[in-house]
Amino acid sequence: MKWNILGLRFDNLNMEEAVAAGEQLLDGDHPGVVVTPNAEIAYEACRDSAFRELLNSADLMLPDGSGVVLAAKILKKPLKSKVAGIDFATNMLSVFARRGTKLYLLGSKPGIAEAAAEKMKQKAPGLQICGTADGYFKDEAPVIEAINASGAEALFVCLGAPKQEKFMAAHAGELKTVRLMAGLGGSLDGFAGTVKRAPKWMIRLQLEWLYRLIKEPRRIGRMMRLPKYVILAWKARIKGGSKWES
Ligand code: UDP
Repeated sequence: MKWNILGLRFDNLNMEEAVAAGEQLLDGDHPGVVVTPNAEIAYEACRDSAFRELLNSADLMLPDGSGVVLAAKILKKPLKSKVAGIDFATNMLSVFARRGTKLYLLGSKPGIAEAAAEKMKQKAPGLQICGTADGYFKDEAPVIEAINASGAEALFVCLGAPKQEKFMAAHAGELKTVRLMAGLGGSLDGFAGTVKRAPKWMIRLQLEWLYRLIKEPRRIGRMMRLPKYVILAWKARIKGGSKWES
């Protein structure tokens, strides 16, 4: 079931259900799109209706941060859990390995996707990675050609938001074999180990955002969108609704 949280229709699923929904997309007849907005991205979507529509056109929308989960709670539409994009991707790797699904990795700086591929194969023995490409291309046509030539059935698009969502929407019709594609931000850096995740205790205390802020203080401008987003949720609750919800 989809829940409208400040204009974005999130799927209310726990991790296990999200992975099952992801697997269902693999059996579909079109490239199913998965998006994973966090509070920063969801805040941008409140201010940009075209971006909001783009996100809402996805087949599956998973809440990638505790900010979204908190806003949903404030709006009295509690989501079952946060489903971080990188955790969803990690779980999907085992599904791909079991099914023999070919995965293509697109995004991040040169060399990162290859390093991520090695780590992924260790996590999910038998996983078939059919191609990799960095995310700093000028022309998109050769990228699409390479993905089609690889026979990829699953595609991780890690170009950051909103670039990755625009890329997926623009090219879905041209991808011949892809059945599942997911916009996963900086996840390839996470898999490759170039950007470390917060320690488990911080994740448990929902402080992953604080860890990222300490590691990358230049993100402060972007990260201020998180409290702004939560304030929007409170305002909507006090008013008994917002212009984005119906
Ligand atoms: N990136 C890319 N091509 C671009 C811009 C960014 O491949 O033109 C990559 C960048 O290297 C990083 C990811 O996209 O790996 C964005 O990471 P970030 O953590 O900023 O993404 P978020 O999930 O926060 O949107």
